[in-house]
Amino acid sequence: MNIRSILFILTGLLACTSVQASNEKLNVLACEPEWAALTYALGDESFKIYSATTYAQDPHHIQARPSLIAKARKADILVCSGAELEVGWLPVLLRKSGNPDIQPGTPGYFMATDYVELLDKRDKVDRSEGDVHGAGNPHIHFDPERMKSVAKALSQVLIEKLPEKKSLIESNLSAFLESIDETVLELDDEVSQLKGKQLVVQHDNWVYLFEWLEIDKVAELEPKPGLPPTTSHLTSLLDVVNKDSTDLIIYSSYQDPKAAKWMSSKTGVERLELLYSVKEWDDKHALQNFYKHIVTSINQAISSVDN
Ligand SMILES: [Zn+2]
Repeated sequence: MNIRSILFILTGLLACTSVQASNEKLNVLACEPEWAALTYALGDESFKIYSATTYAQDPHHIQARPSLIAKARKADILVCSGAELEVGWLPVLLRKSGNPDIQPGTPGYFMATDYVELLDKRDKVDRSEGDVHGAGNPHIHFDPERMKSVAKALSQVLIEKLPEKKSLIESNLSAFLESIDETVLELDDEVSQLKGKQLVVQHDNWVYLFEWLEIDKVAELEPKPGLPPTTSHLTSLLDVVNKDSTDLIIYSSYQDPKAAKWMSSKTGVERLELLYSVKEWDDKHALQNFYKHIVTSINQAISSVDN
């Protein structure tokens, strides 16, 4: 056997572990739109991406509906937050899908939080503390730096799946990293204006954003993580939330604004609904625009009060 035929056999064997022929599609199931956007930025038209949730849905709680199970069944790769964000529905979805390629422990099971350092890790989780994420806070997509780490890790897995697209994925990754850096630089002035601002949040979605922007959290409207705000809890917050202590009250696009409205009317502190994730992920700059939108929205809301 000569070297050419050995190479031929080796290439054939490699192809079996990846997504076969070069004109083949890669079916990607993203749990949240931010991961759909990231995968879209790294790929090309052969990536068939589907997001299980939108910016208007609570990613902690969705139904493993039949149409979603059908998507999971044919997915080559699953791209999710992990760290228990999807613990209420993803295990069921995976079981019902019967798809061996995306089960935990396989290369097709990509959890973004496995590749970054998490904030708010807890040694032991007591269920009486509410819907807390013991593995650490999973809402990492609000941090552009962590997003870059995830992009690097995800591109490796995508290359494993599609070795013939290696150079395309690598050049998309470089463009993405560069563009995120440019965005962060562009936002520098606005970010520095936010330093030290005091915000009230509905749910602790924002720890990574606050770390980046150096914003302080005054209070949470949820009495315990994941539990809806109660009148008694909101009333107790009136001791700490007022126009002197608080610059803004924020809540997610998927949350009921009732509690934030109540708090705002009682205290006179402005409230702001913020996008939880990208609205449209099929844009190479979806995440960059998302960061710009978030930072500018908070800035505008605060400065409209100051003026
Ligand atoms: Zn959460």
